[in-house]
Amino acid sequence: MNEPLDDMYRDIILDHYRAPRGKKAVEKADIESEGYNPSCGDEVELQVELEDGTVKDVHVDCKGCAISVASGSMLAEMCKGKSLEEVKKLSGVVKQLLKGTEVESREDLGDIDALQGVKKFPVRVKCALLAWATLMEGIKNFEGNGTVSNKTSTED
Ligand code: ZN
Repeated sequence: MNEPLDDMYRDIILDHYRAPRGKKAVEKADIESEGYNPSCGDEVELQVELEDGTVKDVHVDCKGCAISVASGSMLAEMCKGKSLEEVKKLSGVVKQLLKGTEVESREDLGDIDALQGVKKFPVRVKCALLAWATLMEGIKNFEGNGTVSNKTSTED
């Protein structure tokens, strides 16, 4: 990673990149979604297992740059145990953080806070948003018509 990110942010991002969370497959995928970020070439595959409306387990398989992998890893870590409503809210906060708009609540952001260093590099924002956009598409499909699988792209 060549971006001059602040050291603190860089260390957290590299930690997730080197040891991504959510590598293990889920037992049963209730939501499945794939995403692609053409501007960088990042690819992500997501699986979510639900139990009583909350996220029991998340599997994230991301092939891409450090920022896309780290963001997917943070997603896996942070979404576990949350309801889909909470996950959607968190995704909204991540978007605000990366677009540099006012963040409603910084509470419980955990390592995601480190992604704010990325907003200085607009081209990398799509990398950081890929896993989250992919998850949102998966949830939308799941809630809309119960389909499990879909593909999404962060290209506008
Ligand atoms: Zn990327």
